[in-house]
Amino acid sequence: MSNLVGIDLGTTYSAIARLDETGRPVIIDNSEGGNITPSIVLFESESNVIVGNIAMQNFGVDKNAFGRFKREMGTNKEYNAFNKTYNPTALSSFVLKKMKEDAEENIGKISDAVVTIPANFANEAREATLAAAKTAGMSVKNIINEPTAAALYYAYSSGDELNGTYAVYDLGGGTFDISIIKVQGSDIEVINSDGVSKLGGDDFDTKIIEIVQSKFKDQTNETLDEEDFTKNDAEEHKKTLSARDKTNVRIASPKGRATIEVTREEFENSISTLIAQSEMTCENVLDEANLSIDDINEVILVGGSTRMPCVRNSVEKIFKKKPKTFGNPDEAVALGAALFVAYKSDPANLTPLQQKAVAKVNISDVATKFFGTSILEWNEETNQHGMKNDIIIEKGKKLPCSVTKDYVTVSDGQTSINCTVNESNVEETDPDFVKKIWEGNLQLPDGRPAGQKVNVTFSYDENQTMKCSFHDVSSDKKTEIDLSVDNKSSKSEVNINDFKVE
Ligand code: ADP
Ligand code: MG
Repeated sequence: MSNLVGIDLGTTYSAIARLDETGRPVIIDNSEGGNITPSIVLFESESNVIVGNIAMQNFGVDKNAFGRFKREMGTNKEYNAFNKTYNPTALSSFVLKKMKEDAEENIGKISDAVVTIPANFANEAREATLAAAKTAGMSVKNIINEPTAAALYYAYSSGDELNGTYAVYDLGGGTFDISIIKVQGSDIEVINSDGVSKLGGDDFDTKIIEIVQSKFKDQTNETLDEEDFTKNDAEEHKKTLSARDKTNVRIASPKGRATIEVTREEFENSISTLIAQSEMTCENVLDEANLSIDDINEVILVGGSTRMPCVRNSVEKIFKKKPKTFGNPDEAVALGAALFVAYKSDPANLTPLQQKAVAKVNISDVATKFFGTSILEWNEETNQHGMKNDIIIEKGKKLPCSVTKDYVTVSDGQTSINCTVNESNVEETDPDFVKKIWEGNLQLPDGRPAGQKVNVTFSYDENQTMKCSFHDVSSDKKTEIDLSVDNKSSKSEVNINDFKVE
């Protein structure tokens, strides 16, 4: 019997789950007894790190407390504490280490884990997540998109009775994802996914802060300092506004005292453009899949921010049906990941009842971005060659997939090819508007005429990680790249064993 866990590494809260002996997915509480753990890292000293509730109490107050770094995964953003810098991958590895160690106290040594990621995560953010798990000392063979995990848990909780097309609407603290999924029993086929990588509860908290700061200024003529009304304070009041029409913010700061009333209406007005953005994304995901709202049987809500009345109203307005919640929206993704890790595991690692829980599961996911390569193309209008991003893997393509396209060299005596891998959210042909995620060179033999065949192959696996090859056919020369190991920005520089993580 192995200990397999699913981990929802959230922007604001993380959760870890497993299948109990009877095959039921259950949350593993952290060492403080909580079902979810704030994804906040506090450096107490150079080598002492606290993750979770205590860290959260210091977030926005102590400059050595960091949060929301999931939004920066795969970037070079630097966080400084005690004269050392940390990247988002390193900070995430501290959260994962805390989750792992707390769980191991409960269930014993963990042998394998699945970590979830937003469907809309860019390639480098996916790689960075895998790197963080490795740094934390975890064996992670698979990752799963968060809405897909939630759909899996939903299918499981519905007792295999689902049959139709479902929209999974996931609005958490940092990201918004919408996935369209065909479900028949435990057979889950993702049709299309879209999202906004920086849209969630954290942005709503910022709006509350702006309202309070502006009213404080009106009342006192003073500027309210950040530490006198923190992100945590804003979040509490935001939650109150999900249940009440108004909330009273009491400020007692060196700049003065004030009681500030914030109404739900004011708050909802302040976030209306953000909500509109999520609505456009919902319309787009249906359009791209050639579906209309009538094709959607049910909309399933996931993520803490779907507790907001205006979010529910927005979903109802777009899909013309009341959305459904099931269980605890904070836990669904982790519970789905627990089912997924068991599904991916060798049945020999499972109890008979655990085997039964996932026996009928079948999941297929799709590429959530477009991937292409920059080529020179003859432009009839300008009568000259121009650069074009030629799409190789389309968004929505079923995974795993491998696509080869044939190109030819453009000039006589050409001795090298500039090889690129580009990523985009939309079908974009202009190389200036796509993200170049890799660039390299392929050297060619001398003295050949133009028109030599070059094959470009992009392979994309179920973990949505990529391998690409650029192949000069006549000389059999190749440039091959495994993006999952070549991604420098995702690497974390910390040695986790140098730190005590609580
Ligand atoms: P993530 O996975 O991105 O960390 P979660 O799904 O855990 O996000 O949701 C966390 C977000 O949900 C936070 O921004 C939190 O403030 C928000 N949230 C939780 N409960 C409520 C509520 N009752 N009203 C409004 N927002 C809420
Ligand atoms: Mg989440």
